[in-house]
Amino acid sequence: MLSSHVGQSTRGRLSGLVAVRDTVARLVCAAGRAADGLVFPWSCPVCETIGSNGPFCAVCRQEMLAQAARASLLACPRCAHSTGPFADLRGGCAACRGQSLGFDAALAFGSYDGALRALCLQLKHEESAWLAPWLTDLLVEAKRDAIAQLPPDAWVVPIPLHWFREWRRGYNQSEALARGLARHLHLPVRKLLRRAQATHRLAAMSPTERREVMRGAFRVRHRTRLIGRTVLLVDDVLTTGATCGAAARALKQAGAARVVAIVIGRTERTTL
Ligand SMILES: [Zn+2]
Ligand SMILES: [Zn+2]
Repeated sequence: MLSSHVGQSTRGRLSGLVAVRDTVARLVCAAGRAADGLVFPWSCPVCETIGSNGPFCAVCRQEMLAQAARASLLACPRCAHSTGPFADLRGGCAACRGQSLGFDAALAFGSYDGALRALCLQLKHEESAWLAPWLTDLLVEAKRDAIAQLPPDAWVVPIPLHWFREWRRGYNQSEALARGLARHLHLPVRKLLRRAQATHRLAAMSPTERREVMRGAFRVRHRTRLIGRTVLLVDDVLTTGATCGAAARALKQAGAARVVAIVIGRTERTTL
């Protein structure tokens, strides 16, 4: 009991230190970027063209938005997979219909390939955290209609990393995306989820293995204030849906009325 208490307090102190360090790092990075913008022109992270008004050059920005618009026309509103032009989406697409996903709906900026995949991989590194709000701005622009239908009192909740992984990596890219989205939508970010157990890398696992590993991986803080609320659950990539599904189930058990998974990249069709 004593060692558990000591472990918790050590973990709490480390989490506090991580939060302080992240805040300082973000302020320094933001100040550095602002100063850079005055002195150095942007270099597009997709094609490396120099001299645009923002991080993405006009060509890449338009191309990403056009791809997102095409993907939106064919996306399943339940799991965000792309479907055929004549797909019957009542109750979901052929991949998700009849499946318990955990979340109620999913929005993805685009397919997890090409430039978007490269940007998501870049975003995993702390020095690229500045990309997050630019990507969520694109997402909001591309998904304007769906986002307009979200309730004005929704909470934005990032998928957490296990505290030790976040401490080693230096930051959580999902939290950076959640903050960018929340700022744009004037909604609060609530770090309600705690990763109760470290999980091995999911990339090599089958969908069934992922679901099994993720079962019970999340705990919810501040349960009572969640009752009846819509949660916008933010992650960088949606692959099999096991991570968002497990997090959504924990949020639902704690009282959330509806959970919408919002991600930057959606992998191509997998068995859910
Ligand atoms: Zn470019
Ligand atoms: Zn679907």
